[in-house]
Amino acid sequence: GAEEIKGQVLVIGAGPGGYSAAFRCADLGLDTVLVERYTTLGGVCLNVGCIPSKALLHVAKVMEEAEHIEHAGIKFAKPEIDLPSIAAYKSGVVKKLTDGLSAMSKMRKVTVVQGYAKFLDKNSVIVEHTDVEGKQTKVSFDNCIIAAGSQSSKMSFIPHEDPRIWDSTDALEVKEVPKRLLVMGGGIIGLEMGTVYQKLGSQVDFVVRGKQLMSGTDADIVKMYTKSNTKRFNIMFETQAQSIIPKQDGVYVEFKGKNAPEGAVVYDAILVAMGRSANGNKLDLQNCGVNVDDYGIIKVDNQMRTNVPNIYAIGDIVGQPMLAHKAVHEGHVAAEVIAGEKVFFEPKQIPSIAYTFPEIAWAGMTENEAKAAGVNYEVATFPWSASGRALASDVSSDGMTKLIFDKDTHQLIGGALVGDNAGELLGEISLALEMDCDAEDIALTIHAHPTLHESVGMAAEIFHGSITDLP
Ligand code: FAD
Repeated sequence: GAEEIKGQVLVIGAGPGGYSAAFRCADLGLDTVLVERYTTLGGVCLNVGCIPSKALLHVAKVMEEAEHIEHAGIKFAKPEIDLPSIAAYKSGVVKKLTDGLSAMSKMRKVTVVQGYAKFLDKNSVIVEHTDVEGKQTKVSFDNCIIAAGSQSSKMSFIPHEDPRIWDSTDALEVKEVPKRLLVMGGGIIGLEMGTVYQKLGSQVDFVVRGKQLMSGTDADIVKMYTKSNTKRFNIMFETQAQSIIPKQDGVYVEFKGKNAPEGAVVYDAILVAMGRSANGNKLDLQNCGVNVDDYGIIKVDNQMRTNVPNIYAIGDIVGQPMLAHKAVHEGHVAAEVIAGEKVFFEPKQIPSIAYTFPEIAWAGMTENEAKAAGVNYEVATFPWSASGRALASDVSSDGMTKLIFDKDTHQLIGGALVGDNAGELLGEISLALEMDCDAEDIALTIHAHPTLHESVGMAAEIFHGSITDLP
């Protein structure tokens, strides 16, 4: 028979959403059980997502900068790449963070159970242990928070079982540098991993169904990125892979669409990065009555409640945007609601960042969204070619700061950046959006000179009308 434990709160999944929810529950005095199938806490983000990808991008960026500095008078020798050491560096970063989470859950007396949970009814799950074979634990709870995340989408025409067909987890292992790599999909994950492999020496092709990369972002921002990456990548827009056939000497891919090459192209590896699917259909939700759609997504209200009052859901499993910081904030709301607080998940903005070369970052409304919503808006852009700091740092040619204002109220409604460190610069825009800042608030804030964030102040001044004669 199964061992039995009981908690006031059960959290399923220890990704950013799940561990944040469990820690907040414990901090609020609730007796908390956290179930995670893998040995380490941290979910996709820490183990096979945000963190390892950024460790590899850091390595790639150092190489990029070393190459770039040549025209400023410094010439380095061709870098020697030691893949196992790169992989070890990446794993070391991940381990520091996941070990930290284990320590924090012990400190808070969160009971961690290692195994796979499935619902028995609306007050209990059965956990199939992944640490001890054959062991089962029944966990009963008053309230449950489902934070079971998502995984790479699979397509029926792709032979995923071939070891040369990668998902992002495979790509993050950096076991080898394929001579020719095809990335399927023009979203953030594909672009980030493509950036890493190109720098490590792969020749990288992208096949993208639409007309632009990162389809949710404004065209002017993405255009600047694409222009500065024409030499780095071969991008086939408005094109699809139509057959993928693994053979001894490579994977043969035939394309269809506007920019399809004739005949098959042979690749040494293919990274499939065509979106992620929520895990809602793998939890036996029918046993507890929680509704889940065909895509595995669980619908929740602004207190993260499902249709079953004592069961909540947060993070990737409740749908887009599938981002770690969104999961964390939803986790906090669910925990606080369970503890009896009157709180809601109603953010004014959820920031997005692509850690590419250059970076792309945006928050609040895009121009497309403002247009679609019928807002009377005005855009103010500041090109980095006019920034002293960008020029001095040699990053002026592919940088731009864009702010979107409500023309009537002068309120900031959105912002986007493309350029070196755009992700770090986005922080100011996020705060300004959350604080309902108007153009004057931003323009009258004294920004240090010379900085890249000065460009945010300048864009606001441009809207404000105090600058008319840009170089
Ligand atoms: P997850 O992190 O998916 O965690 C869910 C956990 O639940 C997993 O550990 C899983 O093992 C466990 N689980 C699932 N079902 C069960 C079950 N039945 N029983 C027990 N355990 C279960 N986001 C960003 O914000 N910034 C980035 O830079 C970024 N980079 C990314 C790069 C890559 C390559 C990828 C793949 C993703 C990236 N993301 C990034 C997205 C980010 O990883 C996710 O949005 C985030 O991890 C979602 O958190 P979550 O808590 O909802 O779920």
